[in-house]
Amino acid sequence: MLHIQQIPVLSDNYVYLVHDEESAACAAVDPAEAEPVLAALREEGLTLSHILNTHHHGDHVGGNERLKVETGCAIVGPRADASRIPGIDVEVGEGDEFRLGNASARVFDVPGHTRGHIAYWFEGDKALFCGDTLFALGCGRLFEGTPREMWESLTSLRNLPGDTRVYCAHEYTQTNARFALTVEPDNEALKAVAERVEVRRAKNLPTVPSLMADEVAANPFLRADSPELQRAMGMENADAVDVFAEIRHRKDAF
Ligand code: ZN
Ligand code: FE
Repeated sequence: MLHIQQIPVLSDNYVYLVHDEESAACAAVDPAEAEPVLAALREEGLTLSHILNTHHHGDHVGGNERLKVETGCAIVGPRADASRIPGIDVEVGEGDEFRLGNASARVFDVPGHTRGHIAYWFEGDKALFCGDTLFALGCGRLFEGTPREMWESLTSLRNLPGDTRVYCAHEYTQTNARFALTVEPDNEALKAVAERVEVRRAKNLPTVPSLMADEVAANPFLRADSPELQRAMGMENADAVDVFAEIRHRKDAF
């Protein structure tokens, strides 16, 4: 079993410390900074064996080089973007399996936010680390990809089991919920999730991880092919990619 620790860093990033208790293997997912990760390792008495990067942005790889110097860890990241991942040792891509001690993650290529973005799915532990591709009630901005690429990336993640916990890299959920309600104001599942999000944020509690089943029911970016959502947007029978692009466009201006 994996033990997953959430470390809030910068203004709204999450770094995850993923620890396999049997083998003592321990990975930091998207270490934006080194110091908070080193502090957590000291506190827990753990040794870092790996860094898992989802994409090249500074708020995901900023701690790579210092952590590698301090711990000798191996850095795993997207093959398609290897030249932009500082210190990369192991390149992975679609369909690859990455072993962390006795646990194993399947890798998905999920381009859209960046060209080489990947996600790590630990099936046995029902945990998905998806960086800035899928957020709780949202998705990443399209910096290096097309709406079609991002829609295809999101639908590949949507197919994972409903009890998958979605460990995204930012606490953006409250704004995402408020936006989602402008798209689908009558979505009962969304209203219920949004209410829980408001309660948790009022107490300064994290809303991440979320559950894939809730994302499928409430996240507008996973629902571009839903007849209910299309009706709510006045886009009945439109192509899902066009609906997705319109939602993304509205969110960019929200
Ligand atoms: Zn990013
Ligand atoms: Fe980010």
